[in-house]
Amino acid sequence: MASGGTNAAEAGVVLSRVWSREADEVARALEVDPTLGLSGEEAAGRLERYGPNQLREIKGRSIWSIVVDQVDDLVIIFLIVTAVVSMALGFWVEGVAVAIVVLINGVLGLAMDLRARRSMQALRQLEEAWSTVVREGRPLRVGAHEVVPGDVVLLDEGDVITVDVRLVEANRVQVDEAALTGESLPVEKGVEALAASTELAERSNMLFKGTTLTRGTGRGVVVATGMATELGGISALVEGEEEGETPLEHRLNRLASRLIWVTLGLSALVVPAGVAAGKTLEEVGMTAIALAVATVPEGLPVVATLTLARGMLRMAEKNALMRRLASVETLGATTLICTDKTGTLTENRMVVRCLVLPSGEVMVEGGGEVGRLVGGGDSGAEREVGEALEVGVLCTNASIGRDGQAMGDPMEVALLRLARQQGVDVDGELERMPEVREEAFDSEVKMMATYHRLEEGRVRVAVKGAPEEVLGASTRWRCQGKEQAFDEEERGRWHRENEAMARRGLRVLALASREVEDAQAAPYEELTFVGLVGFYDPPREEVREAIRECAQAGVRVVMITGDQAATARSIALQIGLVASDEAEVIVGKELRAPEELSREERGRVRAASMFARVSPEQKLNIIALHQEAGEVVAMTGDGVNDSPALARADIGVAMGQRGTQAARETADLVLRDDRFNTIVYGIEEGRVIFTNIRRFVVFLLSINWASIVVIVAASLAGAPLPVTAMQILYLNVVTDVFPSLALVATGGASELMRRPPRSPKESILTGHHWGAIGVYGVVISAAVLVSLAVSLQVLGFALERAVTVSFLTLGFGKAFHALNMRDVSPRGGDSDAWVSPVMRNGWVWGAIVWCAVLLAMTVYVPWLRGLLETVRPGVEGWALAVGLGVVPLVVIQAGQRVVLGLRRA
Ligand code: ADP
Ligand code: MG
Repeated sequence: MASGGTNAAEAGVVLSRVWSREADEVARALEVDPTLGLSGEEAAGRLERYGPNQLREIKGRSIWSIVVDQVDDLVIIFLIVTAVVSMALGFWVEGVAVAIVVLINGVLGLAMDLRARRSMQALRQLEEAWSTVVREGRPLRVGAHEVVPGDVVLLDEGDVITVDVRLVEANRVQVDEAALTGESLPVEKGVEALAASTELAERSNMLFKGTTLTRGTGRGVVVATGMATELGGISALVEGEEEGETPLEHRLNRLASRLIWVTLGLSALVVPAGVAAGKTLEEVGMTAIALAVATVPEGLPVVATLTLARGMLRMAEKNALMRRLASVETLGATTLICTDKTGTLTENRMVVRCLVLPSGEVMVEGGGEVGRLVGGGDSGAEREVGEALEVGVLCTNASIGRDGQAMGDPMEVALLRLARQQGVDVDGELERMPEVREEAFDSEVKMMATYHRLEEGRVRVAVKGAPEEVLGASTRWRCQGKEQAFDEEERGRWHRENEAMARRGLRVLALASREVEDAQAAPYEELTFVGLVGFYDPPREEVREAIRECAQAGVRVVMITGDQAATARSIALQIGLVASDEAEVIVGKELRAPEELSREERGRVRAASMFARVSPEQKLNIIALHQEAGEVVAMTGDGVNDSPALARADIGVAMGQRGTQAARETADLVLRDDRFNTIVYGIEEGRVIFTNIRRFVVFLLSINWASIVVIVAASLAGAPLPVTAMQILYLNVVTDVFPSLALVATGGASELMRRPPRSPKESILTGHHWGAIGVYGVVISAAVLVSLAVSLQVLGFALERAVTVSFLTLGFGKAFHALNMRDVSPRGGDSDAWVSPVMRNGWVWGAIVWCAVLLAMTVYVPWLRGLLETVRPGVEGWALAVGLGVVPLVVIQAGQRVVLGLRRA
């Protein structure tokens, strides 16, 4: 890997060891002007020539390995053993049928697994990274795969680098290269040429694909893309990590395996009992096989995976991108949302409302995107406005294209827009005072500065930032055109001005400037204060409703902002987060580590709904305090510094538009539209998915349990088997599938959002569920046994006809039982409304009708009749089967009402 990228070599540019060349030499070799960038045409041509900037397709898992995975399953092994044993005992039909079931199950599992995987891939594509390149002198956001060698890229804090770059310009650049070199500390980067022998980890003028810009801003020329990058050369890193089993799948798999032991245990009971009762080996063997078939919950993990994957797709359509299947489960259990203010609760559509300058306040008319200054008027004020706008125009990373298209921080864009309306020649100013250095914005320092060369060789420093910081760094101010020392009294007056603006809900920025001898001078010293700017950022309209919904759903909302307390309070009031002007705002400084806080202080932090001037590290303390109290915390973040907090939170939420890519990569949930409501929607969907998986699991286990009880009870009582192994197989594999799939499509989001969240410690099945499964199974099996008894004793049916009727009873009982799948857990389950969401699910009703058709086929389709050994049940037989099939539904519905009534009382 000695060359600077094979792409360059292929282009005929003999340019090895780019780090040892001067930046302009590299640019020349790549035929690009570092200020203007490539032309669109040239870029298109190079894209054609070098191909898209992507790593070789990650090889998917082979079908074979997925097949092996399926066979690996204890349940499947158990079924295979059952098939072999059946054949060995001479039950050929049963043996072959079980083998077919294994096959079908395998193919189905495979298909669903592939489908789930494909959906995940589709989701990944939505997350495609983008880069900002300069083309024809203008910054342009393009998909990362469109970047070509020779492109000039603009780099910003939090960017994940997608190509190999030779830096041309670097402002306090720091990079996390752990992905490439394993070095966990950020390394500083600059532009100076290095010795040709410099090792990869020391090439401080290069940025490499796969690393992250943790601080600063820069500009560079792309020297390699795709597989030609250093990362592309290390193929071990190219293999994406495979997402393992989710905790939910793991628990379901474990559950399924455990059930096998239950079967073995029951067989140990039934077989000796049969022998003792003098049954033939054939009869006893038949019973054991039926039992084995009845117990195995085929498709339990598969349907769960499918449900999760489908849920994720549905969420993605509504802009909530889940990055991990496993998080869907946690999301539904969220009890606390810590959210950003700017851009999430507000629109992030900033406009300048007013300027407060030494000679007074100047309002900006209109409030929309355009406006004219009113007030002021005397020449002094006009000059001050000019000075303020000049700082705003210089100290910025934003830009507005000729077509009015804006790029960059909305606050900076708002300043540029205002300056343009006031007739300031934005590009001209920058030409007159070219930028020579930038001290990038840092959320700890809360200020940024740019340095500009003046004609006389002196340097002008333009500073903007949080008022308390800028006021603290200012030693002079200009009043009535005269520079004066900034005394405490004056500083106090400006602090009060700032407070008053913030109370009006304005985001306040202070402007200052200074002249120095050379560009290396410290930025935030002896500044001359220029004035304050008030921005208005309207709260998002839909947020108020979402906050109310959270309150109903037992989810607390806490606002965490880097902005000041008064602004935070004003916005919180507007969106209904707090009810009174008195509500407490906790300031970042007070947020020490939990162990350093007294009991009362912890209580205060936990009770607060608003936090202001919070730094990313302090977010960690907020999370820790709440997690200690048992909360499941969702935390939003956008900056690169937010990554630790996003990782620590139970659900890290990153912003798709405003956020940095670094934040997106650590998050569990990415909001493609940045909206707060999307988080709430995600929680809703998480609850729906979890509840539906629960419905499905309870359904499957209770009907399996019913079959087991039927077989065990009948054989212990010395009665004939009410259902044969083949009949059980038919029910399990053919009919049960439809109600199961219908159940996981149950809606009821609005209802779930009127209940408190499920306890995070609660597993899929609580004691309530196990109890319910036990009762459900017994009720259904009782109906089946009664059916058999009535057929034989009362109606005097022959044995085959009686067994047909009891088999049909079990079939109908199971199908109707789907309607009983109200989640019975006291917290986080379905409400105690009379009609449960399952009853309102049309799919379930459809599945029941379809099951009835499938059951009718077992007696009217000749070959099926032969296979399942059924006979025509006749009118009385049908009446008995359907009638007793409905009984469990009626009994269980009544039982649920009684229990719900008792619980309420
Ligand atoms: P938030 O986005 O939560 O409001 P930030 O951490 O982004 O908070 O910003 C904190 C403070 O830093 C802001 O209130 C503002 O005073 C200042 N600030 C933010 N962005 C800039 C910027 N681009 N230049 C200068 N100051 C800024
Ligand atoms: Mg911000």
